[in-house]
Amino acid sequence: MYDPLTSTYAFSCPHGRGVRVPLSAFRTLDRLPGAAHPAVYRISFACGCGGEHPGLIAHDDLDWAHLGTTIDRTFRNLMTARDDPIATELVEVSAGRIRAGEWPWSFFCFLEGRPRPVTPSAFALIAPGGRAFGVAVQCPVCSSVSVNLVTREHVDIPFRNDARVGVVAHVFERDALRVATDFRAELDSVTFDERRLDLEL
Ligand SMILES: [Zn+2]
Ligand SMILES: [Zn+2]
Repeated sequence: MYDPLTSTYAFSCPHGRGVRVPLSAFRTLDRLPGAAHPAVYRISFACGCGGEHPGLIAHDDLDWAHLGTTIDRTFRNLMTARDDPIATELVEVSAGRIRAGEWPWSFFCFLEGRPRPVTPSAFALIAPGGRAFGVAVQCPVCSSVSVNLVTREHVDIPFRNDARVGVVAHVFERDALRVATDFRAELDSVTFDERRLDLEL
């Protein structure tokens, strides 16, 4: 479902096509009550057809497939002249970066006043606005919701964290931000302070 080589997720468009979209095309993410093994998230995404559609995605696919664990293709290893699994290579590269203190995604928690590492399921809402994206992120440590202003690459490409992000000086309620159109209106009316995202893990 997630292709780590293109950083896109596969969904279907009701107009009859399969589509691949990056994380920044997601608009809302909600964990479905009940399903636990695996947890399932209901998302909506902005489709290339111009519409916005619902989709379902398993927790593993949403949060961990970017590590390469689910990819079943091989590549020709020129050193050994053998076909090796891409998954093994990708997992090793990702694991090395995490050990070095990098994290695939991060955000600035306003309540705690510090950056925190996250996975995509921590994103509640994503809204495009001009050249940046507004993201509402639920902190995995303190559970508060912060709104950051980030680049598209920060959202779409694992380990490509913005050095500085915009942060709204306000703690949000997740329920109050549930409606994506309200979130977009909110983004237009707030001011952002700049904060550094250097993680001290
Ligand atoms: Zn569509
Ligand atoms: Zn926090």
